[in-house]
Formats: sequence, structure tokens, C-alpha cells
Amino acid sequence: MKNEKESATRSDFIRDIIKEDIKKNKNDGRVITRFPPEPNGYLHIGHAKAICLNFGAAKEFGGHCNLRFDDSNPIKEKEEYVESIKKDIRWLGYNWGDRECFASDYFEQLYEWAVQLIKDGKAYIDDLSAEEIREYRGTLTAPGKESPYRNRSVKENFDLFERMKTGEFPDGARVLRAKIDMASPNINMRDPVMYRILHKPHHRQGDKWCIYPTYDFTHGQSDSKEGVTHSLCSIEFEDHRPLYDWFLEKLHVYHPQQIEFARLNLSYTVLSKRKLMQLVSGGDVSGWDDPRMPTLSGLRRSGYTPESIRAFCERIGVAKRDSVVDIALLEYCVREDLNKRAPRVMAVLHPLRVVIDNYPEDQVEDLDAINNPEDPDMGIRKVPFSRVLYIERDDFREEPPKKFYRLAPGREVRMRYAYFITCVDVVKDEKTGKVVELHCTYDPATRGGNAPDGRKVKSTLHWVSAAQAIEAEVRLYDRLFVKPNPLEGKEDFKTYLNPKSLETLTSCRVEPSLKGARQGNRYQFERLGYFCVDSIDSTDEKLVFNRTVSLRDQWAKIEKSMKAGNG
Ligand code: ATP
Ligand code: MG
Repeated sequence: MKNEKESATRSDFIRDIIKEDIKKNKNDGRVITRFPPEPNGYLHIGHAKAICLNFGAAKEFGGHCNLRFDDSNPIKEKEEYVESIKKDIRWLGYNWGDRECFASDYFEQLYEWAVQLIKDGKAYIDDLSAEEIREYRGTLTAPGKESPYRNRSVKENFDLFERMKTGEFPDGARVLRAKIDMASPNINMRDPVMYRILHKPHHRQGDKWCIYPTYDFTHGQSDSKEGVTHSLCSIEFEDHRPLYDWFLEKLHVYHPQQIEFARLNLSYTVLSKRKLMQLVSGGDVSGWDDPRMPTLSGLRRSGYTPESIRAFCERIGVAKRDSVVDIALLEYCVREDLNKRAPRVMAVLHPLRVVIDNYPEDQVEDLDAINNPEDPDMGIRKVPFSRVLYIERDDFREEPPKKFYRLAPGREVRMRYAYFITCVDVVKDEKTGKVVELHCTYDPATRGGNAPDGRKVKSTLHWVSAAQAIEAEVRLYDRLFVKPNPLEGKEDFKTYLNPKSLETLTSCRVEPSLKGARQGNRYQFERLGYFCVDSIDSTDEKLVFNRTVSLRDQWAKIEKSMKAGNG
């Protein structure tokens, strides 16, 4: 977690408001926030922004953050989602203590509040169909029309509401609506629906209810009931605020302060549970935790650390206006974090066999390799070197173009931590012409990678020793979409899925120190990128790695060009 010094320096318009409130001793200086997910899907990186803000601000100001499941819609909600949400928040590094709340625990109270509004003549039962209600609602430019049922007596409304509750009517037959103003310029104020009939069991309440409160009638009152002082909502709730205010005022209950902030949008992905659900159910990805998904479980499986996600949320900050954040920034954050903590290892993804002709047949040398040049405390390990090695197919060209400094016929290069080698012969498949093996010689005087005569080579290659290397599967993940904003085109967003977002390589070779690598372990494969042992498919018999991110840093480039552009 962040240390105190860092927290104290953090500042944004919401924290400024909270600071002011504390200064004025508003709410006796208390700070209570909440993170209110609806358990109808897995959390994504957009939610992480809201989590870091709500839990982070509460902690910084000595307050509390409630985890409240806004579970008022039984149709899409599931216990599986409740569990995944809790797991993801804990993984991110936040803790709600005993403050686990469910809006459904307030159903009784909400019902009583609805009755109170009916008795005050502020709510009525409407028999219009959902479609008619939509028609009557009007548009942004045209006022709405009052329902013919709007002026029912309190007695009749009360009676019908009771009968709705006892299950007398089928789904959709009637609704309870707030009696506000059908001509309001704010459509949310045009007699919004408060309760609907749904003969559906609830994931926590079972068959107890067949009428359910709408989100609009649930959210603000749940905040009120929990004594939330600062109700931090994403910007789409700005237009709902007058409605929440209206309910709280008419019910004469405690009134939390709602403050809106911008939603996170991220390029080359979608951040909407509904859209992500379509990818899962359509089989476009392997599940909510597919490493290509912007979900926290997907990011975790692909190798992201909680620290990198918190650093990302801190970097993007909290503002009022919506914007799109470049996904390169997220990748930059994980690279920066893994650079510090991930041990380096050598792995060859596209193996090409190399025979060192003058190296003794049965000899194996254990050479010293540095685990992390960024962190000397991580020490060294031994890697075996022998007569037959594998190098990356890309690291050899029979006819090297200009500026290709890696291995080529007659050329000398350095094998990382080992020796200088020179390519002396190329073996090809007779039929296909494909290079299948290289023959090289090594210079025994260059052990450790330096020539005593001071001669230089222009490149250093990673390698593994064929006899000791372990075979592994490596999954190269790339961005999920080919378009920066997949939602902006005319076509369905799935049209823009990246067909090359997953490439599976089944015969990679990794150095033997990776034997027994545990699920979730993260490494830098030298010269290739950061990789994580898959937490589902990897076993002791068959290691499976996911690429978290390549080493190429596009964000640094973007920042550089922005700076150059700005002079
Ligand atoms: P989605 O659009 O993905 O379905 P949602 O807003 O419906 O998201 P909720 O479960 O209601 O999902 O979200 C819980 C909290 O997370 C809300 O307070 C919401 O404002 C916040 N949140 C959701 N998406 C984002 C986002 N992209 N950026 C910032 N906060 C978000
Ligand atoms: Mg929502």
C-alpha cells in the first residue's frame, strides 16, 4: 500500500472537497465512502479507478469505505459475481473490514419508504405498459405526457401496491412511479419508475419478493442508510442527482453529498460489463479472466500486478471530464513495476538449433547469470551451457540486411553470460530450403562474454542449452481490438476484434531454472518481454506462460513525441 508521505501529496478536486469538509467539521469530520458494484459481471479496469478513489480517499482521510453490492435487479445478478468482485478488490490491495453491505438487505426499508411516498401522495401505481411509459415520457425537446392513472387516490395506490407485493399481478402489469413532473427538462424527473413486478428469485432474498426497487430508487437511499458522507459517482449519474435529492428530501432522511467524476475509457478495448459479457458468451474470449480482457481477473492472469494498476489509477488522476486514456500508459505502468521485481530468465520462443562444433561433446558448464540488474539483492543463478543450443530464429539471417547486427554466416556475436560464437555453416532442409541448424565455433577465451583482446561484437543473443531446456507453451497476447475506439464505427464492435490477439507457440524452450515455476510467477524473458505462468493451464508437466507485455515501450515514445510537439 501507499505510504503516508505519498498519500499526503495526492490531490484532485474530490480530495479538495473532502479536505474542505473536514476543515468545516461537516459530518463531524467523518469520511465514509462506498464502492457500489452491481454483481452482474466481473470488475474491469474502470472499476479499479473507482475502487482506488473510494478506498484510497477514505483511507487517506482516516475514514471508511463500504463495499456495497447494488443488487436490486435479480435478473442478471449472481453469487459468482459477488465472489469475484470481493476477490478482485482484495487482490487490488483494499479491505472493507466488516463493512460488506447489500442493497437487498434494505428491501424492507425501501418498501416502507415507498409506502411513505404513496401515503404522502408522491407516488402512484401506473397501469401503462413499459412501451406506453416510454412513449409518454417525451424527449429531450418535447415534454412528457401525464399517465391517465397518475391521479389515483392514495387509498387505491396503497391497495394496488400491497397486491403487487403479494404477487397478484404478472410481470409488467403495473409499476410504482414517483409523482414529480412530466414536463421537467430533466427526463429522469418525469415520474421515474420506483418499483416493478418481477417474479424472479433473488440471489440473496430467495423468493421473498416479487417486486423489486429500481436502481434509481435504491442507490441514493442505500447511501443515506449507510451514512455515506461522500457519494462518489461516475459522471453518468450527474443527471440522476436531482432525482436522488428529491427522494431524500421527500423522505426526510440523511442526505449524503454526491460528487461526480469522469469514467475511465481506455483505447483498444471496451469498458462495459454488458459488452464484455457479449465477448464471453459469444466465445470471442475464453472467459471473464481471459488475459486479453480489461477485467481485473484478466489483467491478473496476464501478469499485471496490483501495484501497477494502482500506479496507473494514480497517474490518470481524477477529473470531471471524460477522456480516453491510451492503453500504452497501462502497459507502461506494468512494465515499470515488473522491471523492478521480475527475475530475468532466458527463453527461446522460436527455437533454431545451434551446434558449437569445437565445444566438447559431453561438457556442460554452469555459468553465472544475473537475476535482475535493477536489483542486486536478487542475486545470481546458474545457467547451463553446452554444445547444442537453441537461439531465436529471428536472431539469424542468412543474408543480413543493413543494420541487422545479429548472427549471420561468418559473423561473431556474444551469447549472453557465455561466449562469443561465430557462425561457420548453415544447414537447410533439402525440400523446403528452410534453415534447420547452424554450426558455429566458440572462443574459449571469451568466457563470461568478454574478449581479453578487447575485440567487440555488435550484438548479444539469448539462448538455452538444448539438453537441459524445458519445453513450454507460450501465449502471445495482443490488444483485443484493432481500432482505438471499437464503439465508434458503424459496425458492431465485434467487427473490430483483433484476429491476431492470441498466438499460441507450443514448442518454446525455457532455461531449466524455471522447472517448477508456480502459477502466477512473473518473469522477464530477456529481450522479449514480461511473462507470467498461467494460473489455470500451467502444470509441472507442461509450463504455460502468458505474455503480459512486450519490452517495447510505446508510451515512452508517445511522451517523447508529445514533448517534441509542444516544443
Ligand atoms: P458497466 O458500464 O461496466 O456495466 P457500471 O457502472 O454499470 O459499469 P457498476 O457495477 O454499477 O458498473 O459500477 C460500480 C461503480 O464503478 C460505480 O460507482 C461506477 O460509477 C464505477 N465505474 C464503472 N465503470 C467505471 C469506469 N469506466 N470508470 C470509472 N468508474 C467506473
Ligand atoms: Mg452502473
